[in-house]
Amino acid sequence: MSERLRITEIFHSLQGEARTVGLPTVFVRLTGCPLRCHYCDSEYAFYGGEYREMDEVIASVQSFGARHVCVTGGEPLAQKACIPLLQKLCDLGYQVSLETSGAMDISDVDPRVSRVVDIKTPDSGEVDKNRWQNLPLLTTNDQIKFVLCSRQDYDWARMICDHHQLWDKTELLFSPSFQQLPLKSLAEWILADRLPVRMQVQLHKFIWGDVPGH
Ligand code: SF4
Repeated sequence: MSERLRITEIFHSLQGEARTVGLPTVFVRLTGCPLRCHYCDSEYAFYGGEYREMDEVIASVQSFGARHVCVTGGEPLAQKACIPLLQKLCDLGYQVSLETSGAMDISDVDPRVSRVVDIKTPDSGEVDKNRWQNLPLLTTNDQIKFVLCSRQDYDWARMICDHHQLWDKTELLFSPSFQQLPLKSLAEWILADRLPVRMQVQLHKFIWGDVPGH
């Protein structure tokens, strides 16, 4: 198995999303993604990047002295060496999360990793890429994320949670597509429907704007 990874960036910031939001975290952004969501905020990670040896990547992570590491992309699982990278980070005692599109097989990911798995909605443009076989593999250590672009997406996400009985399976994150779905609209729909979900904003964008490196 290849021990080299194609890396777009490794940086230290505050986690902007999900269960560990606000905590200082090292981000390892792997290059490449087979999807093309229309709202993608990391298109700069589709191409380019630099090949780096696993040991070099680990040393770079260690240099920041943080407890949390988030492996993201692009789609990190599109690179085979992502699986051993996650395992090594767990072995070193880091609290590790993985952000994945939901289009790739998650079964080989180390169970110590909190897998943040997207379910792509119709308005993402990539709903056909959802790998529904992933859902039965999720545990309470994982998280499911819907990025919502419209009321239609919201209603669809509710229907999917009903259909796959996701309400009690793991943490559900409802996230408005940045500057597309008003925060207040989503908040009011969730409250009106008494949905047991966590609404989240992308904290880093409110602090630094929609720029790479955060
Ligand atoms: S899966 Fe993520 S990185 Fe890939 S196109 Fe969609 S939003 Fe962008």
